[in-house]
Amino acid sequence: GAAPYVICAWKTDPKVFEVLPSPRAVFSLGAGVDHLQVPGLLRDVPVVRIVDPDLTMRMVEYVTFAVLHLHRQISRYAQDQSLRVWAPRFQTAASRVRVGIMGLGVLGEACGRTLAQLGFDVAGWVRTPREATSVQVFAGQEALGAFLARTEILVNLLPNTPQTRGLIGADVFALLADGARFVNVGRGETVVEDELAQALASGRLAGAVLDVFGTEPLPADSPLWALPGVLITPHVAADSDPDVIADQIVRNIERLERGEELAGRVDMTRGY
Ligand code: NAP
Repeated sequence: GAAPYVICAWKTDPKVFEVLPSPRAVFSLGAGVDHLQVPGLLRDVPVVRIVDPDLTMRMVEYVTFAVLHLHRQISRYAQDQSLRVWAPRFQTAASRVRVGIMGLGVLGEACGRTLAQLGFDVAGWVRTPREATSVQVFAGQEALGAFLARTEILVNLLPNTPQTRGLIGADVFALLADGARFVNVGRGETVVEDELAQALASGRLAGAVLDVFGTEPLPADSPLWALPGVLITPHVAADSDPDVIADQIVRNIERLERGEELAGRVDMTRGY
């Protein structure tokens, strides 16, 4: 009979594709497909990811929260409160704060638009140059230095690919503007975690909001847990709604049965 479809739970066991190397399509249950970069899965098998306005809005909500949390110095006020200290601090205007988003895809673009509406000075870093955009765009490795030099709040929304793995480490933090802060909502693999902890401990980074990590759950002995000015959440920035996912998969299977193009198909040679 016809080869089956494979619907992939979070972190699929690669052994599935030893048994089923050539399914008609593979559906990721998330926006990322890094867990599907497995040997054994044939290159011409269509891989589909979730692109969902509800998931996008949840990410916009989280990134806006994270940037405002850092911008409004909330971790300091929380600390003051725990000591019953009343200590107003100088507050910069959002228009004087330069936010830099690495990855202006479906999620990064939407986050950038909302932050710009709140008045932040937003730019993004992408792989391929583009023309019309809602925010200033820096493209490619050669523009990375200029992008980082202007950035005061860095937001990582890159996918995990061979090109992005370990990309954000001491070199990147060293190039950021003074007093820079960091938000990671992309993938933990993109960040060199001990260099992140070092940058926070030394004051090179003045704070962080971290949702994703190289090892999840974040091990209890990670120094990140206890660093001042660091807010940690357990990979909850943007979940996908099970009903929406099920509906998208059904509609895609219908498209495939009719011989039509799939919605949300990923270029697996590019990796995202
Ligand atoms: P997307 O639409 O595929 O966008 C990816 C963006 O990253 C694009 O702008 C792309 O540049 C850029 N990019 C990729 N490789 C690059 C490289 N080597 N150098 C520079 N830029 C590069 O992805 P998305 O839907 O926005 O999702 C982004 C990631 O968010 C996902 O892959 C996933 O890892 C993560 N995520 C996290 C959560 C969470 O709960 N924490 C939830 C959902 C998703 P071009 O525009 O030039 O192609």
